[in-house]
Parts: sequence; C-alpha cells; structure tokens
Amino acid sequence: MSDSILDLDRRHVWHPFTQERTAPPPMVAVRARGARIVTEDGRELIDLVSSWWVNLHGHGHPAIAAAVAEQAARMEQVIFADFTHEPAARLAAGLAGLLPGDLDRVFYSDNGSTAVEVALKVALQYFANRGDDGRRRLLAFEGGYHGDTVGAMSVGRSSGYFRAWEGLLFPVGMVPYPAGWIGDEAIRDKEAAALAGLDAALGPDVAAVIIEPLIQGAGGMRMCRPEFLKAVAERVQAAGALLIFDEVMTGFGRTGAPFACLKAEVVPDMVCLSKGLTGGFLPMGATVVREPIHQAFLGENLRQAFLHGHSYTANPLGCAAGLASLELLLGGDCQARIAGIEAIHAERLRTLAAHEKIRRPRLTGTIAAFDLGEGDYAGTLGARLKQVFLDRGFLLRPLGPVVYFLPPYCIEPADLHRAWDTLESAIRD
Ligand SMILES: *Cc1c(COP(=O)(O)O)cnc(C)c1O
Repeated sequence: MSDSILDLDRRHVWHPFTQERTAPPPMVAVRARGARIVTEDGRELIDLVSSWWVNLHGHGHPAIAAAVAEQAARMEQVIFADFTHEPAARLAAGLAGLLPGDLDRVFYSDNGSTAVEVALKVALQYFANRGDDGRRRLLAFEGGYHGDTVGAMSVGRSSGYFRAWEGLLFPVGMVPYPAGWIGDEAIRDKEAAALAGLDAALGPDVAAVIIEPLIQGAGGMRMCRPEFLKAVAERVQAAGALLIFDEVMTGFGRTGAPFACLKAEVVPDMVCLSKGLTGGFLPMGATVVREPIHQAFLGENLRQAFLHGHSYTANPLGCAAGLASLELLLGGDCQARIAGIEAIHAERLRTLAAHEKIRRPRLTGTIAAFDLGEGDYAGTLGARLKQVFLDRGFLLRPLGPVVYFLPPYCIEPADLHRAWDTLESAIRD
C-alpha cells in the first residue's frame, strides 16, 4: 500500500462540504505565500476566495508569522478563567476601539459558529437576568447563514444546508431579505416588504434579531443596502430587542470599511467576528457586546454570570495573530489596496454586466458577485467555470450559479485583471 499524502488522505480523512465519491481528489497544498497557493505537483494557484474568506493580507504574511512564532515561544496557551494575558487584553482593546459606540466588551471563542452561539445565548440570558423571561424568541433573515452548530443552524435554517437535522433545530421567526444588485429597480419595494415582515414579527416576545450586514455570504453573496440596515436597526431597537450583526465574513475590511456596521452607520448590540480576525492564521472567534449588556451579567452569584467557555478561549497564538493582522489592516497601504480592488471590480463588472448570461451583478468593497444564467443548468456552468479557472492558475469556488471574487487584499492588480479576463473569455466561449 502506498503512503503518499493522497493515499493517506483517501483512507483516513473526511473533507467538509464534499461528496467524496464524485469529487476529484483534493489538491495537495505544500506552501502558500501572498495570494498564491503552491501544490505538490508544482502548480501555483491565485486564491480568489481567500481560503474560505479567512485570509486578509496574504498567505504566510511575515509580520503575522513572526508574531505567532514569538508568542509560541513565550506562552502558547493558558486557562482563561483566573488568568488573562497581554495579547487577549490588547486585541480586545483594539477591537473595542475600532467598533462604534459602546461595543466595548469582547468574549472570545473558537470560530464563527461559536461566536454566533455566544451572541444568541447572551441575548437570552440578558433578558432572563433582568427578570424579563418573556423575551425568548429569535428572528433571522431568509437565506442567511450563521454556521454549523445547532443554534447557528437554527437561525440559518433557510439557507437549505441542514435538512438532515431539521428535527433538532429550534423555531426561529424568518423575515424576508431584500437582496439587491446594481441597477435593481425593485429594491425599494423589496425593502418595504421586508420591513413590513419585520414589523409583523417584532413582538414583545422577541429577544434578538440576527443579520449578516450588507451581504449574506454562504447564502449566495446576496447584498442589501446600508439604508435597509439603518431601518432594521431603528425598528429592532425601538421594539426593545437586541440587534446582532454577524460580521464573521464582513469584518476586517471586506466591505470596504473596517466593519460593515461602520459602513452602514449602525451601532448593533452585538457583533460576531471570526474568519479575518486572525488574518486567516488561526481559528478564533469573538463576540463583541455593548457594555450595558455585559453589566446585566454582574451580580453576587455565579448563576447571573455567563456560564459558557471553550478550552482554548482567547488562545494567545490566535490573539497575537489578531493583533498583528489588525495592525496591518490599519497601517501601510491596506486601505488603499482595498479601495483599489473595489475600483477594479467596479470597472470590470460594468463591462461584463452587458453580457446576457450575467444576472444580478453586485459589489461591496472587495467582494464582486453575479449569477450565471438561471436554474440548475447554471449550477453546472459554475462547476465548469471552476475547472477553467484551475486550468489557468486560479482558485475559484462558485456557490452553485453564483460566481464571486473575494481575493486577499495583497492581490496584485495585474493578477486581479487576469482573473476578470479569464472570466470574460470563459463566458464568451
Ligand atoms: C463562515 C460563517 C460563519 C461560520 O463560521 P465558522 O468559522 O465556519 O464556524 C458564521 N457566519 C457567517 C456570516 C459566516 O460567513
């Protein structure tokens, strides 16, 4: 029996979101630098999906690698009850400084799903701690995705990924989501219908409303306008419920501003972060809450405290990576690079949108997307497009018929233009 990496993988590894019977064997990645992933057979692929949306400044960025190495040599991990440490405290202060209003209190966890679970559990206990046991219901938006744990699946059930576990999910009120695109003339009607749905659902029993601000990621890169988020925030807060922004994908510059809530000029009650939090180096999540919410957990007995935690809560390596990544985001030419990517996307999308196969072109910050035709056939077109891109040295992963570019901020303008050229020629043929 051969012991090549692929043989070992085939015998022992189970891959996520993959039908392993029909999928081609995985590529063996051996190195990654900047926007490029290098495979065992010597191919270089430009990562147009930022390795599932986590990478910001490029693979193997030396500043983050050095921060992690230095922290690993000093202290790799310490229990986070009874202890704190410098990277955790400094990263929390950095996040609080960047987020608006009194979003000042950071609870660390392990990934995006747990950041969402924490927000949902904090919302319910917040009202229970205040003696308001009537607020137990959660609302979410149709098509939203919030992760793969049971609470996150429950608020994301309409994304359609969770049929095998329907019986396990708790009931959540679903509100229509006004997905729009460039030149969408019906957007105001869709927003009015969504807000009417929200008004109807917002009773005195609602504890919290969760939304992916500006763009639903896994649900198909479906975008909404900042104006809509403002109207949602007004209604949710007037109804006395908490507003949770799931910024797991939108955080750290993806939509052009450091956070989508800043771009929308909304101060939500909680913000969920992960993916870009460590610059794509380590798995970590954070739930940032407004300080008055945290205050409701202070008291004389343990029962009033938040009895939730993870073995690796506030892992020092993750926090050190987060701090180094935040510094890169705010320093140097990062903001200019983000603006540059958006400008290239806008220019190329405008030309491409004239093609009849391109539906619903849309753009926010560094994320450009469109639908390829209609129906199931469009889904197989997406799969073929992925292969064309691989053949030309790009990693692209359409979501069914939805094609999107979500590159790391370090991508060279010439490489991004080549990606758009590849798209143009593939669609023409
Ligand atoms: C990816 C994602 C999650 C889940 O994060 P994981 O780290 O995969 O658990 C939650 N919410 C949004 C908006 C996401 O994009």
